[in-house]
Amino acid sequence: SPEFCSQEVTSSCNTTFSYIDNLNRQIRPDLKSLIETTYFRYFKVDLEQQCKFWDAQHFCASENCAVEIDEEFNWTQVTNEEFKPFKLGALKLPGKDDKVDNPIETEEVQVCEDLDYCHIDDSHECVYVDLQKNPERFTGYGGNQSFDVWKAIYSENCFPNTNPMSMIGGQQEEQCVEKNLFYRVISGLHASIAVHLSNEYLNSVTGEFYPNLKIFMERVGYFNERLANIYFNFALVSQSLVKLNEILPLKEFILSGYDDITPVQQQQLLANNFTDKAEVYDELLFDDIIPALSSNLLFNTSTLFGPGVDPNLKNEFRARFKNVSAIMDCVGCDRCRMWGKIQTIGYGTALKILFESEDPNNKDRLKFRRIEIVALVNTLDRLSKSIEAINNFKQMYLEHVRNV
Ligand code: FAD
Repeated sequence: SPEFCSQEVTSSCNTTFSYIDNLNRQIRPDLKSLIETTYFRYFKVDLEQQCKFWDAQHFCASENCAVEIDEEFNWTQVTNEEFKPFKLGALKLPGKDDKVDNPIETEEVQVCEDLDYCHIDDSHECVYVDLQKNPERFTGYGGNQSFDVWKAIYSENCFPNTNPMSMIGGQQEEQCVEKNLFYRVISGLHASIAVHLSNEYLNSVTGEFYPNLKIFMERVGYFNERLANIYFNFALVSQSLVKLNEILPLKEFILSGYDDITPVQQQQLLANNFTDKAEVYDELLFDDIIPALSSNLLFNTSTLFGPGVDPNLKNEFRARFKNVSAIMDCVGCDRCRMWGKIQTIGYGTALKILFESEDPNNKDRLKFRRIEIVALVNTLDRLSKSIEAINNFKQMYLEHVRNV
């Protein structure tokens, strides 16, 4: 059932937790290596994009809010005219002997805006960020600024007949499964961010980052529902990755390279040896991670948005999730904003895969970009790292309880 460990944590839910814990232990090392590869570590983002909902300042007093921009990867000022969207399979990174004056064959494709569940930055201001150099962790961003952003995000879940103000920290009664799913995705994202910031919490005296059990318990550990929502999101994102590999020649897509950089930049990539061998992806993603996740039968979305559900509901769901991704521009801290964007694009891509690839009216119009695949895999990594950290905190908590 799509109702995954709903409401209270039952014994069957504990079985689900331990099942996912084991699955996660199995894929964790490979996933960690995968996101270190060139393809998955560079994220294109516009950090200057203004908040379109209210007068938000991009201001965070802490230096931990900063994003380190990788100069090496931002060689040329990219203009929109230089971008050409690629049709699947048309793009090929030039090999050593290929001519480089026109290294790629391009073909214009229709950008199916209406099927996307998130906004993707594509402006002149975009920069490439090396995610490995900018980990998601405690930044000091908080107070009214972040509360207002979370409130706005939860309000997007208020489909007609629900009350916006009561969503934060609690769930409305009488929601249908689809609305419940929206809430769980957001709450799981919120909880996962809290796990990362407590797992790498700043010691202001030493300047070091360390796992802070107290903060973890106050934000996530004491709330079964929040823990369950992280596991729920892990099941959702992993199922979407498996599905993506069924509906798209994913390996070919990854090996075809980068659809978001210019030909000049592609040549620079090659010149700097910033490429990974095909075997790396085989070894990590196609031989290990995806087969392991394929055995995950915990989450079945085929009953969602099925017959009997108002078709307008899915359109509204998509539009509202898209709004959530736009709200990310209102996050005052650069580092938090960047990770917020990655994860909303990751969830948006997962929802697009799961809901649209089953829809006879839409499945043939589905298109994907590199950034969506990068965000999806990095979002899975965030959840996987959260689950690893939750297990570490569990040990710390048991030890703490034994000592008091
Ligand atoms: P908040 O986390 O702000 O929560 C507000 C209220 O929401 C809580 O009082 C509670 O009622 C409810 N709530 C809390 N968690 C959940 C949940 N999982 N499900 C349902 N309801 C819940 N800070 C960092 O240090 N590093 C980051 O990388 C970072 N990234 C962020 C990204 C985004 C998009 C946003 C909006 C904020 C980010 N923050 C980050 C800030 C962080 O999320 C908190 O807002 C901040 O630490 C203050 O926490 P708080 O305990 O006051 O409550």
